[in-house]
Amino acid sequence: MTNLNLDAISAQYERLGIAPEVLDFAGKIEEALAPRFRAIDQNAEFHQLRVLSAMQKHKVSAACFESSSGYGYDDIGRETLEKVYAEVFETEDALVRPQITCGTHALALALMSNLRPGDELLSPVGRPYDTLEEVIGIRPSKGSLAEYGITYRQVDLLPDGGFDYDGIRKAVSKKTRMVTIQRSKGYQTRPSFSVAQIAELIAFLRAQKEDLLILVDNCYGEFTELTEPSQYGADLTAGSLIKNPGGGLCRCGGYLTGTKECITQAAARLTSPGLGKEVGASLGFMREFFQGLFLAPVVTAGALKGAIFAANLYERLGFPVIPNGTEERHDIIQAVTLGSREKLIAFCEGIQAAAPVDSFVTPEPWDMPGYDDPVIMAAGAFVQGSSIELSADGPLREPYAVYFQGGLTWYHAKAGILMSLQKLYEKKLVTIGLI
Ligand SMILES: *Cc1c(COP(=O)(O)O)cnc(C)c1O
Repeated sequence: MTNLNLDAISAQYERLGIAPEVLDFAGKIEEALAPRFRAIDQNAEFHQLRVLSAMQKHKVSAACFESSSGYGYDDIGRETLEKVYAEVFETEDALVRPQITCGTHALALALMSNLRPGDELLSPVGRPYDTLEEVIGIRPSKGSLAEYGITYRQVDLLPDGGFDYDGIRKAVSKKTRMVTIQRSKGYQTRPSFSVAQIAELIAFLRAQKEDLLILVDNCYGEFTELTEPSQYGADLTAGSLIKNPGGGLCRCGGYLTGTKECITQAAARLTSPGLGKEVGASLGFMREFFQGLFLAPVVTAGALKGAIFAANLYERLGFPVIPNGTEERHDIIQAVTLGSREKLIAFCEGIQAAAPVDSFVTPEPWDMPGYDDPVIMAAGAFVQGSSIELSADGPLREPYAVYFQGGLTWYHAKAGILMSLQKLYEKKLVTIGLI
């Protein structure tokens, strides 16, 4: 690129309020990341072609974007979309619906439809995502698995974050029917698992008991690696369409991919026994579900670049970051330990100020139900709560860590991260060292 273009770009950053010192500092960080960004682009290229092939093979056509109403019988768009998902995830079948309201609902559906009273569910990777505690009944809740006489067992990770294979061997019993494996760390401090680690765990579990049903919570992991857990023998994978696979276009929805048997069970529960997958009006959602999946590899790549850029930038400024600047990525979440209330608030103000929507509001800490401490959240998204869009949040307590994810384009993720640093810099909460 010529310097003239670079100057023109710098002028745009300055127009947004980014100081030249912040821009210079970030520019040097970005330069050093060129080889990693190339690898991410190649991963996106690979998945773009896979998604394209799947859409061609299943003959996606304009008719697929038509809207059905009422029962939604013979909805060619819905049926084709589910074939495309099954193709991309290399599974026998899939259930992809606007009626699956979110990731938690997709996971609850997978569990509730495939477990029966007297069965036991095992988590061999420690505590599951917060919202699943009520689904399982770890925290008592109406309609939980516990209310139906389904028990739960958990094997915690070893102190180094690895799987406790001994403990898992002992925990698998005659009662154990299903295993749930969460790929992303979510908002915990443990590492996220690679697909290779999950594949190893699945093989180990199968060796203990062949007919276990294995569910992978795939939230935030889709398209971050070359393969998906569904390609290594998971019976079911579940996720949200307002995260990676929706490509930022889906206004709601969730998906399950897996074996014919498990998906049939899930469909019977989502709609009704006897009706299963045959009903469910698509209500005009199909175009964005197809187009979102089509864009998802590139959108996920942008979010990954943002996470890696933030890790390197804040690491260089002396803040602890998880994952660190050089680690392999298995999801799009980045944690930065900011160390003080003021810094956490300034960071979130920066993310908010860089949003395309609601950039003019100031995020305030609030007492969120279910949390002991106030939480601050920054999000200015086209889709409410969408976390494939640039967003950040953190509880106001030690060690004042912010969890940051998303960005529909790499350029927007970068602008958001620069703005977060700008706010810290303006408030004299960091000094930008020479590098
Ligand atoms: C987001 C998430 C969920 C739940 O998804 P919602 O759409 O918020 O209900 C479950 N597990 C993990 C790991 C997640 O990141």
